[in-house]
Amino acid sequence: MFTSETLREELSKPKQIVIATHHKPDGDALGSSLAVYHWLKAKGHAAHVVVPSDFPAFLDWMPGREDVIIYTANKTDSDALIAEADIIFCLDFNGLSRIHAMADSVKNAGGVKIMIDHHLDPQGFDDYRHWDSNAAATAQLVYDFMVHVMGDHESITPDIATCLYTGIMTDTGSFRFQTTTPSVHLIVADLITSGAKNWEIHEKVYNSYTENRLKFLGFCLVNRLEVLHEYRTALFSVSRQDLQRFNITTGDTEGLVNYALAISGMRLAALIVDRTDQVKLSLRSVGDFPCNELCRDHFNGGGHRNAAGGNANEPLPVVVEKFKALLPEYKTRLIPNN
Ligand code: 5GP
Ligand code: MN
Repeated sequence: MFTSETLREELSKPKQIVIATHHKPDGDALGSSLAVYHWLKAKGHAAHVVVPSDFPAFLDWMPGREDVIIYTANKTDSDALIAEADIIFCLDFNGLSRIHAMADSVKNAGGVKIMIDHHLDPQGFDDYRHWDSNAAATAQLVYDFMVHVMGDHESITPDIATCLYTGIMTDTGSFRFQTTTPSVHLIVADLITSGAKNWEIHEKVYNSYTENRLKFLGFCLVNRLEVLHEYRTALFSVSRQDLQRFNITTGDTEGLVNYALAISGMRLAALIVDRTDQVKLSLRSVGDFPCNELCRDHFNGGGHRNAAGGNANEPLPVVVEKFKALLPEYKTRLIPNN
């Protein structure tokens, strides 16, 4: 295991570094990765961000995103970078299955693996970790790592501040979730002071829908939402044809599941989508209902208590029925005073 001291020492000389994050990177994954990228480049390291897949269009403005290498589209070069790296930053994931096709390459690499993450149950592939499952976002931990572990507040440029702000904003649902503590607000205030333009970031991330995406949202609200009052649960089930009809691409379904929780009294919301390779589930809850347990025990997934995901290899209607059939088992946790 590496100590903070050896890590500071390692990073004091120019190194070959790869920054990896999870499949379909969200604002926190990409924001954390690009923040670390800018920070390392400014220190003279040869750094590369390698991600397992493309990322949503609503993040396609982030400083440095044009340098991001998509693994599946550049496999040979990516494998070489990963194999030759002295250090591999693993950001916003703690299990190798979350990096899909990159997993073997990262697993077999000889470089020092530094994990910065806030998900439960780390797998243990790392040599050094800055991990806290109570953190609101990995970007919050990256800030903490730079400022308190590396003692390097002065290196936070406007680009780094912008990337970290985006990560915290998106993972806290714009500073609404229970994870949004006073210290999160203090960090965010510092990021704005350091050059993050909060109003501009909000505009770029949330008011950047295509016409199709907004119409798809309306379609799902009218035609694909099922409310199970008995279980205080609401779910969207979206077919492959629905995705095709509205030309839906990566990131376009982001946030949809939250609308189901806007109905008064709902405790659990699910979005079940038939993607090309498998059926993907996204769960959200309010209060102490454990989405991560349900995903882990029944859908090969995990995540946080109030936001988790999983997948299944059966046809969409079968997965939807399986999800609904689980609700009686969870009824006492959905309606605590039942
Ligand atoms: P989302 O519903 O936005 O895809 O994911 C919500 C949370 O659940 C994220 O924090 C993500 O890391 C986690 N998550 C989503 N899908 C999976 C999965 O297939 N496996 C695991 N272990 N976690 C997931
Ligand atoms: Mn995150």
